Amino acid sequence: MDRKHKQLMEENIKVAFWGVRGTLPVPGRKTVRYGGNTSCVSIEFPKDNFFIFDAGTGIKELSNYLISENRAPIKATIFISHPHWDHINGIPFFAPLYANGNKFEICGPSNGDMSMRGLISGQMDGVYFPINIKEFGATVSFHNLEEERFAIDTVEIQTMFLNHPGQCLGYRLNYRNRSICYVTDNEIYPESNRLYSESYVNKLADFIANTDVLITDCTYTDEEYEEKIGWGHSSVSQVVELADRAKVKNLYLFHHDPDQTDDDIDNKLKMAQAILERKGSSTVCNAPKEGESFDV
Ligand SMILES: [Zn+2]
Ligand SMILES: [Zn+2]
Repeated sequence: MDRKHKQLMEENIKVAFWGVRGTLPVPGRKTVRYGGNTSCVSIEFPKDNFFIFDAGTGIKELSNYLISENRAPIKATIFISHPHWDHINGIPFFAPLYANGNKFEICGPSNGDMSMRGLISGQMDGVYFPINIKEFGATVSFHNLEEERFAIDTVEIQTMFLNHPGQCLGYRLNYRNRSICYVTDNEIYPESNRLYSESYVNKLADFIANTDVLITDCTYTDEEYEEKIGWGHSSVSQVVELADRAKVKNLYLFHHDPDQTDDDIDNKLKMAQAILERKGSSTVCNAPKEGESFDV
């Protein structure tokens, strides 16, 4: 391999899906292909910048993977979109948190007077879980995030508050002319709804504009959404319209409703691809499965 090619390979960003479901883990026969775990995505940059997005039950799979790889010490930043169960309740099962020598920063929005530390420690306070955060052997720090822009080494991170009950943040990572957006949970109201906000949709389209990868809430089919307006999630056609408008290169449908089977997710993907084809869009749409990974 020549030097330039090798350098490029080393510069790859590795994205891996450990849980693609929303709201509730759904193990069983009907969910074996896409997996039944709730939201967790890892994004690994060169030079040891290891980021984890959300700590649903999928983080247990990531935990198993890291242990099998014998990686130590582990240094990572865990970004939490918001503290609903399906985004935090895998935290106590993430074994690297209990190992000496590892180092984690857990970042996300505070909710009311509850800080990120309070939200994470609260679900492990002895009533809800038998082990509390004092048992963490790793060095763990917490950081409240607002809508802001900052950097971790050479990775630039931007955040935006999303339309969802409570405080929920979407993330955009920029690294050497490439970008990845993690935007869940989020509701894009239809124009006919009184809660529709043109300025919000414009802001969101700017936030994700031209990104290489958009991983986003596509909880419902259009028919299901009609019954779930105001629940804080989006439908297939809303997500596709937004991605096309924002010239997203690769759209990843994420955070599926717990009542949907593998076949239902296949159908959502087909619906999305059909809309994009009708529009002659350049956006490529995927529905990632648990355990799947790719390089950017
Ligand atoms: Zn969720
Ligand atoms: Zn939520």
